[in-house]
Amino acid sequence: MKQPLTIYWFRRDLRLIDNVGLYEALKGDNPVLPIFIFDSEILDKLPEDDARVTFIHQTLQNMQSTLQKKHHSSMALFHGKPLDIFKNLVDTYDIGSVYTNHDYEPYAKTRDEKVASFLNDNHIELKTFKDQVVFEKDDIVKGDGTPYMVYTPYMKLWKATFRTLDFKSFPSELILKNLISNTDLPHLSLSDIGFIKSHQEIKPYLVTPSLIQNYEATRNFPSQDSTSKLGPHLRFGTVSIRKIVKKAIAEKNDIFWQELIWREFFTQILWHFPHTQNDSFKTKYDRIEWRNNENEYKAWCEGKTGYPLVDAGMRQLNETGFMHNRVRMLVGSFLCKHLLIDWRWGEAYFAEKLHDYDMASNVGNWQWVAGCGVDAAPYFRIFNPTTQIQKFDKDLNYIKQWVPDFQELTYPLPIVDHKFARERCLETYKAALN
Ligand code: FAD
Repeated sequence: MKQPLTIYWFRRDLRLIDNVGLYEALKGDNPVLPIFIFDSEILDKLPEDDARVTFIHQTLQNMQSTLQKKHHSSMALFHGKPLDIFKNLVDTYDIGSVYTNHDYEPYAKTRDEKVASFLNDNHIELKTFKDQVVFEKDDIVKGDGTPYMVYTPYMKLWKATFRTLDFKSFPSELILKNLISNTDLPHLSLSDIGFIKSHQEIKPYLVTPSLIQNYEATRNFPSQDSTSKLGPHLRFGTVSIRKIVKKAIAEKNDIFWQELIWREFFTQILWHFPHTQNDSFKTKYDRIEWRNNENEYKAWCEGKTGYPLVDAGMRQLNETGFMHNRVRMLVGSFLCKHLLIDWRWGEAYFAEKLHDYDMASNVGNWQWVAGCGVDAAPYFRIFNPTTQIQKFDKDLNYIKQWVPDFQELTYPLPIVDHKFARERCLETYKAALN
């Protein structure tokens, strides 16, 4: 007789501490086998030196080493299609149940439905939990039960509901002794999954009391580099959102807290409206006649538009996998409005390059920038790429850092005249929306 066990499936929650699904699995009667699947459906689309894959692999190695050294246990790593991996696991082990945390992206929802149905056919339950956000799905909805499509009332109800919460903790780290004792489970190197180590690094986040207190005053100035860099950590779950929200509240800084709520706002939008992955939320905007000039797109990607703040942002992204939020808004507006290139092209480029890429936040923000999303910027708000410098990089420190050649003769002339582009954009948008 094989010993019955519980499987815990790690995905976007790569930590042993304060992990809801892991905690619930460990509380049960059976020993827990932790697994991670390098999903070939996702990995096959990525470049071989993808920094996010290096980060995931390194994080798993660190977790593995903690499990081996401190808990005489281990995690099993697999590479392939999740359904195929589960077929093998069901043949190998006597599985009582499988635990995991919710994932709200359209692909993940379909994948999980398929896995749940296969497990169900084998009399195994897939038990899933909310961990990635404080509020999900229909937790925060309007009085009539429909989702909020405007941020401010959503944010107000989010805060009001939060105040009534009994903020439970999920100390998975205290019961890791309930993991299976086996330090010899399948391991995988980066090359086993077809990748090489990236030269870009995902750095630790920084959420100190002073960062939160100064956030409002400094967050708009890219040269100050004063934001938390939480993005990839929230994306891959190397930090618990509950811990970060508690810190934000302790410092009584509403603005930082509200940024975290934007993340949850967009997460619930994508969950309620999965088609917005590809389609504009405001359908009329899909009538816009984008110019989609490939050479201009290339110049934008490479940071060679001749507008120094736009180019600085794109070069920062290309070199580091990060771009400051203020500059993301400008480069996004520039692509959609000055160049009339479809927001989906920009979204795709960010998806490839951003270390903190998250479909809900990326699609939500791109649609905001293009004017076609929920609670979006009005279409006639067109950032002026030159006056933005006066406002946010007056001393040119950010520009000098990323575009040292901006005063040289070799630096490109502006790809398009601002005034002309602005008029063209207004005409094109008006024609589509009337
Ligand atoms: P901080 O300023 O320290 O904020 C803390 C956290 O709050 C962030 O890590 C993030 O989780 C959340 N947050 C802050 N601003 C936003 C926002 N506008 N929308 C949603 N969440 C927010 N953020 C992503 O996490 N992934 C993306 O793929 C992404 N794509 C974007 C695309 C465009 C065109 C724009 C304009 C913004 C995008 N953002 C995205 C939002 C924002 O730019 C980043 O979250 C932020 O710059 C990350 O840096 P940080 O972690 O230092 O953020």
